[in-house]
Amino acid sequence: MSDNHDLILKNLNLKITPKRLAVLNILADELVFVSPEEIWRKMKSRFKNIGLPTVYRILEELCEGGVISKIIHPTRQLYYYYCKNLNHHHHFICMSCRRVEDVNLCAAKEIEKQVAGNLKGKVLSHIIQVNGFCKTCSQKKAPDES
Ligand SMILES: [Zn+2]
Ligand SMILES: [Zn+2]
Ligand SMILES: [Zn+2]
Repeated sequence: MSDNHDLILKNLNLKITPKRLAVLNILADELVFVSPEEIWRKMKSRFKNIGLPTVYRILEELCEGGVISKIIHPTRQLYYYYCKNLNHHHHFICMSCRRVEDVNLCAAKEIEKQVAGNLKGKVLSHIIQVNGFCKTCSQKKAPDES
């Protein structure tokens, strides 16, 4: 699918570089959300001297372009997820197995309208993420909190 990834980078006005493509490929292969450190570790097998800040920068670029989503775990650890759903939607994340489910329902339009009305200001966006345990994980015994 790397042709596809070339196009994604081109559309974002980002130069097509092996590192950017590698980050996209790693994320596209993952079915779960992954941390910058995990991506960095995988990158190091191909790019011996790559630093973690480089990986962070690439992830930020892709995130700003809307290609990947930021996942803020309740532990405040930052993760990323490659979602191909281009419609406005939110994510359910499983805190145990890290799977992500699209939530194709947004109740925030009403909230935005109310906030804008009350503040007489302008509302531009909102962040909603639903955290919990998926069906499989919630059926296992209570997950270790550690
Ligand atoms: Zn789960
Ligand atoms: Zn999604
Ligand atoms: Zn929404």
